[in-house]
Amino acid sequence: MSEKHAPQYSNAEVESQYERYLMPIWKNLHVPIKEAQGCTVEDFDGNEYLDMFSGIAVQNAGHGNEAIVEAAKEQLDTFTHGCTYLHPHEPAARLAEKLAQVTPGDLKKTFFANSGTEAVEGAVKLARKYTGSTEVLALEMSFHGRTQGSLALTGNKGYKSGMSSPKGEVAHASPPYAYRCQMCDGGPCSNACADDIENIIKTHTSGDLAAVVVEPIMGEGGIIVPPQDWLARVQEITHDYGGLLIVDEVQTGYGRTGEMWASDHFDVVPDIMPQAKGIANGLPLGAFTAREEVANAFESGDHLSTFGGNPVACAAALETIEQLEDGLIQNTRRQGSWLNERLTELEAEYDVVGETRGLGLMHGVELVDTTDTGPRDVAAAPDPELAKQIGQTLRDQGIIMGVGGFYKNVIRFQPPLTIKRDQLQRAVEGLETAIQEMTA
Ligand code: PLP
Repeated sequence: MSEKHAPQYSNAEVESQYERYLMPIWKNLHVPIKEAQGCTVEDFDGNEYLDMFSGIAVQNAGHGNEAIVEAAKEQLDTFTHGCTYLHPHEPAARLAEKLAQVTPGDLKKTFFANSGTEAVEGAVKLARKYTGSTEVLALEMSFHGRTQGSLALTGNKGYKSGMSSPKGEVAHASPPYAYRCQMCDGGPCSNACADDIENIIKTHTSGDLAAVVVEPIMGEGGIIVPPQDWLARVQEITHDYGGLLIVDEVQTGYGRTGEMWASDHFDVVPDIMPQAKGIANGLPLGAFTAREEVANAFESGDHLSTFGGNPVACAAALETIEQLEDGLIQNTRRQGSWLNERLTELEAEYDVVGETRGLGLMHGVELVDTTDTGPRDVAAAPDPELAKQIGQTLRDQGIIMGVGGFYKNVIRFQPPLTIKRDQLQRAVEGLETAIQEMTA
């Protein structure tokens, strides 16, 4: 690296520049990053961290992945930008073909954007164009992005407070949150939350539906895994009312859950599938893929993005997908199944662990205050303060762990899919020690 571009700051200096010149939204459990390799992040003061959060579930193939960096560099040397929709280019052509092969069922045609929120908004536009309807249904506690359209879908006032968002054409139904289920009267799961979608369509909409938008596992909501046949039932209801099922795989896609897509676990082929995050291992890229008949509803000029489908990002995505197919998904299954077992043991051992849940390398640990209830009680109070303290303690021990969820009480394991057993073990042991210390 030339001297001009080499990092020169300390942690304090980069933080003080942020304080001065960036909008003040960045302060929660941050870790300055000077460089990163594999599952390790180094800050400007020489501290090393085990990264269990992948820059919010993005670096699926690990930081500084040599072959991906090489693919991006080669493309940089060829050309950097050609506007995908003005100058058709090979990286986008090849990536779109690859997506037709690796996405579920008969999903075939893709639009390339730059981010998750754009992918979701584009998917909704396509559903509206295809169906000729405007009304959309999403879920309470969901997250689909921060731009105005995605914010309207998002079912969490925490992201909306103080900012108006256009709500008119979005209705919200109950999430498939088994741990706090209030719908099945304490009995076995009857998929009543899926049926609630039909109820909301009947009572809150004209019945003339463009789309139902759901996450197959709710990431920001707290790694909420639905009952096995929930997604298929939601699709059935959606189709009964003439809508399209948009399955937002922005966070769950690209191997994160131990399959290429979370939809694969539930044997559902979405009608439109937004993707981003892990797609290009850190280069900004978003996409949504649809069945051919649906995709062809877009006519020339209906949608466009100046930077979307950037050739450097597409080249990185092609190499990322190859690595996912060549072993990373397998590693995700192997490590994820070990992680699941260990977290289940923590749930049995510690009352403050209300529930652990997840698939592959996307797991959540929901922390509760059991002063007034038992830990498995639907009314167990969320304990966001404990989650925050544990996140801080782990950071002090050199482990970056996500802290989130609708109630901000969920510890999130979403490491690079390259993670090794000893690294995962260190993270779980760190969490257990932190729980013991905080609850002693
Ligand atoms: N959809 C889901 C399910 C997400 O988890 C996110 C981000 O966390 C988004 C959409 C928005 O993605 P982005 O931040 O790239 O706009």
